[in-house]
Amino acid sequence: MESYDVVIIGAGHNGLVCASYLLKAGYTVLLLEARSVPGGAATTEEALRDEAPGFKFNLCAIDHEFIHLGPVVEELELQKYGLEYLFCDPVVFCPHPDGKYFLGHQSIEKTCAEIARYSDRDAQKYAEFTDYWQRVTSAIAPLFNAPPQSIVDILGNYRLENLQNALSVVGGVNKTLDWLRNMITSPEDILNEWFDSEFLKAPLARLAAELGTPPSQKTTAIGAMMMSLRHNPGMARPKGGTGALTQALLKLVKSKGGVVLCDQPVQQVLIDDNHRAVGVKVLGGKEYRANKGVISNIDAQRLFLQMVDSSALDSADPNLEERLKRRIVNNNETILKIDCALSEVPRFEAFNHQDEYLIGTVLIADSVAHVEQAHALAQMGQIPDSDPSLYLDVPTVLDPSMAPFGKHTLWIEFFAPYQIAGAEGTGFNGTGWTDELKNKVADRVIDKLADYAPNIKQAIIARRVESPAELGARLGADKGNYYHIDMTLDQMIFLRPLPEIANYTTPIKGLFLTGAGTHPGGSISGMPGRNCARVFMNSQQPFSHKVKDLINYLKSVV
Ligand SMILES: Cc1cc2nc3c(=O)[nH]c(=O)nc-3n(C[C@H](O)[C@H](O)[C@H](O)COP(=O)(O)OP(=O)(O)OC[C@H]3O[C@@H](n4cnc5c(N)ncnc54)[C@H](O)[C@@H]3O)c2cc1C
Repeated sequence: MESYDVVIIGAGHNGLVCASYLLKAGYTVLLLEARSVPGGAATTEEALRDEAPGFKFNLCAIDHEFIHLGPVVEELELQKYGLEYLFCDPVVFCPHPDGKYFLGHQSIEKTCAEIARYSDRDAQKYAEFTDYWQRVTSAIAPLFNAPPQSIVDILGNYRLENLQNALSVVGGVNKTLDWLRNMITSPEDILNEWFDSEFLKAPLARLAAELGTPPSQKTTAIGAMMMSLRHNPGMARPKGGTGALTQALLKLVKSKGGVVLCDQPVQQVLIDDNHRAVGVKVLGGKEYRANKGVISNIDAQRLFLQMVDSSALDSADPNLEERLKRRIVNNNETILKIDCALSEVPRFEAFNHQDEYLIGTVLIADSVAHVEQAHALAQMGQIPDSDPSLYLDVPTVLDPSMAPFGKHTLWIEFFAPYQIAGAEGTGFNGTGWTDELKNKVADRVIDKLADYAPNIKQAIIARRVESPAELGARLGADKGNYYHIDMTLDQMIFLRPLPEIANYTTPIKGLFLTGAGTHPGGSISGMPGRNCARVFMNSQQPFSHKVKDLINYLKSVV
């Protein structure tokens, strides 16, 4: 049997980040990936090779913000392995039905000047609002970059600036209570409190709803942070597409002797008589031995309920199976993904079209109510396609290398239900989705875009439409949830995915968790991978690791 120190289930970007840290520390690592390409929701693929050769598509993630809130890119020196980030500016363009438009630049001042064309009050409020969320971000980012139950790690991440910002947010009883209220209220309430103009509130609500919840949902107001992140640290895309991040990680992993095997879906975690994870078995029966640990890049529900023998789980923690089944919330909302090869960019002629407006994200969000409908209906199993709200990018404006000369690509994210209500047991995997339905919905989405960019239909050379059911199957994600589990406050930090398995460890010795379903959650950040690697290494050499940490911390503050 092939044997390694660590076997990682899944080569998503978090699995690869985790592997990179472990390899750098001298462990031998094997990553087993179910798909024929590694990267999970972080790939760039020539997905329309027959109809539109030479066009490269980000099949999932495209806009990277959270990774710039942590040290992964610098610590792993990913630029040495070919990663180059291109920062977007402008960062958001949202045309409004009344002819106004919101144009967000990386500079707050320039953004305020755009808002002031329509409302001086909202422009001034925008500066204050952004300042508040940037201070909140600075106060909590150190928590993102540490295992959530490791006080020493968390405290060690705080620098003077973070502490000052934390004090400015929670210094004093009233400020603290106000901050608490902001954490438990909804994006809609926060936006109504600060702003008057719909042309501004609608795109901010649309970005907040990227958490996968409607803007009215209480406890998700932190989604307001999504726009402030685009100012600082900024929003960037790897040159060549998101897959370039995966490629850089792969180069690093391989250069350190790591092994990545594709088309190897893991079926079972092997657990010995001492209740310790000692390896995995893949489809076809081959087994791989893990001498020091097995790390899962897939969600806890699939891991424990499908890959761990139930008697082993029961003897490790008799309550865990029930809690995984019933306590974890994974709502019904996911994405219908549309990728198009274009002969020219969509032109927003009625909105002072400039190609540079398309460098960042284009949002079709007519009002907060429009965004509400897009997410609330999806959660109820209905397709919100009577008046679609969209998040789209034209990546080739920033990075022409992703299409043949002069041509473009279009990336559209349309929130949609995984399971269509009333269609249970039909279509792909019983979800109700069929080829005919997904194409009908895609036509409506393109029709809506054509209301703003009338040239879009004749610009499409070819398109690829992936239903939520197909996306879920491709990613191996439960109900197509690309955050593995919901990103609501009740499942964050030391509650993610459940308190007893929130620190990347599990009741089964030698079995660890990483990935979007662990702290601090989904999106391209690499933080779950890095944090998990820390916990794993700590479990191997607890004392020497702590001493090394202490020395590093003292060096950094002196
Ligand atoms: C359409 C879409 C758009 C998105 N846009 C953005 C964006 O713009 N910005 C952003 O920050 N985030 C975005 N996200 C979210 C982000 O991509 C994910 O949250 C993130 O990539 C998750 O990374 P991960 O490594 O934790 O997990 P994953 O990428 O899900 O990786 C898990 C890996 O495990 C593999 N696997 C599954 N089962 C098995 C098995 N049995 N055996 C072996 N391997 C297995 C999978 O194939 C996969 O490679 C988007 C997601 C989607 C779907």
